[in-house]
Amino acid sequence: MSALPSMSGKDDATGLKAYDVVVVGAGFAGMYMLHRLRGQGLKARVYEQGGDVGGTWYWNRYPGARCDVESMQYSYSFSDELQQEWNWSERYAPQPEILKYANHVADRFNLRGDIQLNTRVDRAVFDEDTNTWAVATSDGKTVTAKFVVLATGCLSNARVPDIRGLKDFRGEVYHTGHWPHESVDFTGLRVGVIGTGSSAIQSVPVIAQQARHLTVFQRTPNFSIPAWNAELTAEEREAFRKNYPEIRRFAREEARNGIYAELPDRGALDDGDNARRAKYEQRWEKGGLTFMLAYNNLILDKAANDTAADFVRDKIAEIVKDPETAKLLQPDNHPIGSKRICVDTEYYATFNRPNVTLVDIRASGIEAILPNAVRTGAKDYEIDALVLATGFDAMTGSVARIDIRGRGEKTLNQKWAEGPKTYLGLMSEGFPNLFIVTGPGSPSVLSNMIVSIEQHVDWITDCLSWMRGRGFGTMEASKEAEDKWVAHVNEVAQLTLYPQANSWYMGANIPGKPRIFMPYIGGVGVYRRICDDVAAKGYEGFAMTAKERAQAAVAS
Ligand SMILES: Cc1cc2nc3c(=O)[nH]c(=O)nc-3n(C[C@H](O)[C@H](O)[C@H](O)COP(=O)(O)OP(=O)(O)OC[C@H]3O[C@@H](n4cnc5c(N)ncnc54)[C@H](O)[C@@H]3O)c2cc1C
Repeated sequence: MSALPSMSGKDDATGLKAYDVVVVGAGFAGMYMLHRLRGQGLKARVYEQGGDVGGTWYWNRYPGARCDVESMQYSYSFSDELQQEWNWSERYAPQPEILKYANHVADRFNLRGDIQLNTRVDRAVFDEDTNTWAVATSDGKTVTAKFVVLATGCLSNARVPDIRGLKDFRGEVYHTGHWPHESVDFTGLRVGVIGTGSSAIQSVPVIAQQARHLTVFQRTPNFSIPAWNAELTAEEREAFRKNYPEIRRFAREEARNGIYAELPDRGALDDGDNARRAKYEQRWEKGGLTFMLAYNNLILDKAANDTAADFVRDKIAEIVKDPETAKLLQPDNHPIGSKRICVDTEYYATFNRPNVTLVDIRASGIEAILPNAVRTGAKDYEIDALVLATGFDAMTGSVARIDIRGRGEKTLNQKWAEGPKTYLGLMSEGFPNLFIVTGPGSPSVLSNMIVSIEQHVDWITDCLSWMRGRGFGTMEASKEAEDKWVAHVNEVAQLTLYPQANSWYMGANIPGKPRIFMPYIGGVGVYRRICDDVAAKGYEGFAMTAKERAQAAVAS
């Protein structure tokens, strides 16, 4: 019998509704968290600011939105029935299908009853007397919870750039990460797209087919590899389903990025020019993110990396007919893979269309948005509609928007002012009983995120069960363990080429954000073993306090 009985959502002594766990966010992380908590007999409440479940796939409805990890892998593994029964239609499912899948999961596991939609969590304050969190929501209510889980998403805080005149633009302005639910029709319009990251690379080819004219404003060109997306055949689906036990095991334990793929056994400079080119050609023909697995040192050794970058630059020059445009599209200021590599369908070829113009804003920036145009240093580009494909305040943005106060009323934003500090990406010292799913300091955005989400959720659930079994009420990362982990995360990052790019991994897309490499590069397999080892050693590096002892300490 558990030492800490479930609160069953009843009012506590303060008259507030009391839960075991409040979960913030109902994307893939929040939904699976709820499912596991229920399995433990815990009473949980999920708050989601959006109008439905699905997170990323609820918000990012822009034309061409789809996953860039193959759907047979970018899907939950926790239920064999689910993975055997769900039929992905394409190699990379489009956004509506992934959203349908999220809704199917919510219904199949009866999750909706404990998910409150259209409700933001605004504030969470830890009460050191009762060791509970008071969680205030946008509907004006406050509830209490022993634990809070932030499943707020790494790419969920759409970044609107601060450009002069944006408010005065006469046409519609869209953000790819906040796309309207109604269909958007660009037929006959002159459209401007600002940004050339993943969302632009997916949407530009589709918008170009509709728009009268499309102008793409580019500050930094990115490397993109063709998706070669296609319908999945029944045989292909069956091959995955039959081999799921091994595919999922490999993705969790052996792959660095949580993707089942052939791993390289040699470095790029171990091959001669012809053999290397043949290898890259083979990977290009396969398509997708695993291009970077052509060799085992592409993200470690600049000379090796240059060979892959040159190959892709050559491909761009082959595809894009106008040499000046091709040159602009060739990335030249960061190693390939040091920013998340993009996966596209006809992105580069789109610039051969007569109705598409690429504008380089690296030097001039965007001076202003006029009521009917985008003004760059040299010229005004007349447009009727504007698409901001400007990305997210990644990894910390959504957490920072919640007023989180831990011990001594210290806010998490104060603590993270110089960059996020966590132990294992799971907890931050001074904020007891507050978990983060795929937080900074964990592999997170460097991985197939569903693999990382499932690992974190399972770890948290097991931890809560362990605590309950031993009568522990409070858990907190120790400062020493956290400092060591932060140092380790940085040390590993410095061994690679990642810090050489001004990427959102570094917070470089947000003015004023500290430049810290946020995700853990060690790989999902290594990271999982570290987390499992910490758990096996009685949650080493975390301080656990029995409920009674914590209260006695406060009283004395
Ligand atoms: C266009 C796009 C394509 C992607 N493709 C891939 C891919 O192919 N492979 C991959 O591994 N990853 C991909 N990702 C990353 C993707 O974000 C993750 O795979 C995954 O969906 C994250 O799930 P999550 O539940 O952690 O977060 P999210 O899906 O972001 O969900 C978090 C939810 O929390 C809610 N929320 C945040 N703050 C609050 C608050 N204060 N109160 C209430 N609710 C709140 C948000 O509204 C959101 O719905 C992609 C991301 C984008 C944007």
